[in-house]
Amino acid sequence: MPRSVLVSGGCGFIGSHLVDRLLRRDDLEALVVVDNLWTGLRDNIAHIDDPRFSLRVGDVESFTDSGHFDEIIHLASPASPAWYRREPARTIKANIGGALNLLPLLRPGGRFCFASTSEVYGDPLVSPQPESYRGSVDCTGPRASYDESKRCTEALLFEEQRVSGLDVRVVRLFNTYGPRTRIDDGRAVSNFICQALTTGILTVYGDGSQSRSWGYVDDIVDGLERFFWRDSISHRGPLNIGNNREVSVLDIAKFVCSLVPGSRIEHHAPAPQDPTNRCPDLTLARQVLPGWEAATSYQEGFQRTFEWFRQQIAAGGEAAPKA
Ligand code: NAD
Ligand code: UDP
Repeated sequence: MPRSVLVSGGCGFIGSHLVDRLLRRDDLEALVVVDNLWTGLRDNIAHIDDPRFSLRVGDVESFTDSGHFDEIIHLASPASPAWYRREPARTIKANIGGALNLLPLLRPGGRFCFASTSEVYGDPLVSPQPESYRGSVDCTGPRASYDESKRCTEALLFEEQRVSGLDVRVVRLFNTYGPRTRIDDGRAVSNFICQALTTGILTVYGDGSQSRSWGYVDDIVDGLERFFWRDSISHRGPLNIGNNREVSVLDIAKFVCSLVPGSRIEHHAPAPQDPTNRCPDLTLARQVLPGWEAATSYQEGFQRTFEWFRQQIAAGGEAAPKA
């Protein structure tokens, strides 16, 4: 049966790629995006010319609709520390308020999908992190509005599943990068590439020994589509989705420098409570999504992302990466 789908945050980086992917499907009847364009851009969906698609500009926490949806995919939330740390209340409202507001818009028996984050593991004391790891998070720390609102939204959904049998699918995404990240997004990959292309000075916070597992957006969206769409899957989550090749921040900065002769690294003060490491245990993902893997190497993914940013900047995009 063709599905009517609501995607919150569909003008954002990952959301817009997922929207493109879903619009390729024949078993999709209608796709509504709700987005308040806080961190997302109209440009990310400007290319869409599909009568099944519509955009509703507004806050997810107050979105209303006369109908009900077969599937709701809740992605609305900034993901960049530079953005969510500036507006903690708004971040909490987007995640928790958004989920609470959207739940009644699901048709009976419909599916509620949510993008949680590896940030629920905080500064992890085990590596790689399996879904069963309960995390090391500081609810009074500088990342708390994001970490804790993701954790609370997970709690809401799994409790709704327990008490009312709600069909939920929850993923925990690890660091994702690629085209359509904002130039002023502030995360590492987009910052380093834009800095290399403009000032030539890459700002590494601290000594750069902290690590992440960098996932190319096409691979990640492939995992999301499989997990969110397939009826045959009985696992509800949480499910880690990411690339499991862990690379230090300094190494990726050096790689980006190698793409632009003359660019160099400058060390800045460490970011407060910056997690020291992050790497998904993908054992469960391999069982639940056989055949899926985040195969793109960071070198290949960075080259593609670099080329996209190069064109954006050449076309006059705002060249002001946030340090
Ligand atoms: P993004 O900032 O590019 O996209 C978020 C989108 O949500 C934007 O279009 C923004 O305008 C919209 N939005 C925010 N608050 C809203 C609100 N109250 N009402 C309506 N729209 C609102 O971020 P992204 O990188 O595409 O991340 C998408 C989702 O994936 C987020 O939920 C994020 O927490 C999660 N995630 C992302 C990563 C990553 O590395 N990119 C990692 C883990 C989890
Ligand atoms: N980082 C950095 N310079 C930048 C942006 C980020 O050194 O210009 C570091 C940041 O301190 C962190 C890592 O890169 O250790 C990943 O940061 P990002 O904001 O991309 O994601 P998150 O911290 O949420 O994993």
